Amino acid sequence: MQHARRLWIKAPAATLEPSYAGGIVITGSTISELIPAGASPSSPVDEVFDAAEHVLLPGLINAHHHFYQTLTRAFPAALNKELFPWLKSLYPVWAELSQEMVEVSTQIALAELLLSGCTTASDHHYLFPRGLEEAIDIQMAQAERLGVRVHLTRGSMSLGEDDGGLPPQKTVQEEEVILADSERLIKRYHQSDDGAMRRVALAPCSPFSVSEALMKASAGLAEQYGVRLHTHLAETHDETEFCQQMFGLRPVDYLEKVGWLNNKVWLAHGIHFNDEEIQRLGRNGVGICHCPSSNMLLASGQCPTLDLEAAGSPVGLGVDGSASNDCSNMIQEVRQALLLQRLRYGASKITHQKVLDWATRGSAACLGRDDIGTIAPGKQADFALFRLDALRFAGAGDPLAALVLCGADQADRMMVAGEWRVKDGEVAGLDLKRLMARQRELAAQLAATV
Ligand SMILES: [Zn+2]
Repeated sequence: MQHARRLWIKAPAATLEPSYAGGIVITGSTISELIPAGASPSSPVDEVFDAAEHVLLPGLINAHHHFYQTLTRAFPAALNKELFPWLKSLYPVWAELSQEMVEVSTQIALAELLLSGCTTASDHHYLFPRGLEEAIDIQMAQAERLGVRVHLTRGSMSLGEDDGGLPPQKTVQEEEVILADSERLIKRYHQSDDGAMRRVALAPCSPFSVSEALMKASAGLAEQYGVRLHTHLAETHDETEFCQQMFGLRPVDYLEKVGWLNNKVWLAHGIHFNDEEIQRLGRNGVGICHCPSSNMLLASGQCPTLDLEAAGSPVGLGVDGSASNDCSNMIQEVRQALLLQRLRYGASKITHQKVLDWATRGSAACLGRDDIGTIAPGKQADFALFRLDALRFAGAGDPLAALVLCGADQADRMMVAGEWRVKDGEVAGLDLKRLMARQRELAAQLAATV
């Protein structure tokens, strides 16, 4: 039997933890040894990568996104609006998505994520117009092609305008269709083992686009198959008002009523909670994905991150869709989290280490994993290496702080499960120029449909 290749990432310029200042050894797809400063691996290695010019981070984990929205960045009709009117401008456009649009926009979003140091990506896709019933299958194929670890959620919308919901009727699906497809996707793609490259979760879109019955049925199906649940919650005051009018409940009470107040659930945004609700979410271990850029762009508000954490909720980070960000850059999102959260909690509590922890260990916890998100023996070999030789770093002191404060925007190298997926700032196996040209054509086609 051939032995697994041993690679030493030697003595990085800086690391998130001092325990591996001398680097890490990768054996096959996992991390096998942490090297203290000035030391060498305990047994011979096959290859050495000299990281003296690189800052080493655990791979960043994006806990909330909508890949398809890369086709509607800075969309003219949606500019300068808050969530509900923004959605109403975009729903009719998104209803015209084609298979190729999903394929290309997924590649674009994943390439952008990979290049920003992201090794695990979650996506929330909830549009399945006629001909696009296999949108998640298309995303799975692209993720496999680029070698990124994914948690793809089977999103859904079932409450259209005719029934008091926000989305146009033509964008919603029958509940039996949604549940049958959810089951199909879990059976076909979900890997429950340690080191899984692809997982499936169920994700009814939001209280204002899904019926109470579908929320309950999705929870039942998730429980049956041991998969996680995800949705948007407490994003805006409009949503709170909607819940009070439609269900006679605030969003967290509604969540509890439909059987979602537990540690198998992670929520996107989580902004408008009162103190009692924060305690209840924390006690039940509900995860919160903070999406700072989107929250600022749509003027939604500030997530009470530290209060949620103190109450017991895992807190992770997400870029949210590229129509409300309008990019998919995880290391930039780390900086946004630091800036926004400092306004709420002050500079001494929101450190660069804190926001990097949210983007790694915190996001992993939201996704229900502990085999990724940290650098430790036995964990998956998912990490990113950033150089500090761009103009924006000239004169920087602390290299780790510089990544966040000077605004790093691109990883030089990136490994997922022991395989290089980004080398010298390029995504392996992707002709980015050609891809971007096609994305531009498709975005123009999509815009012309309305
Ligand atoms: Zn979202």
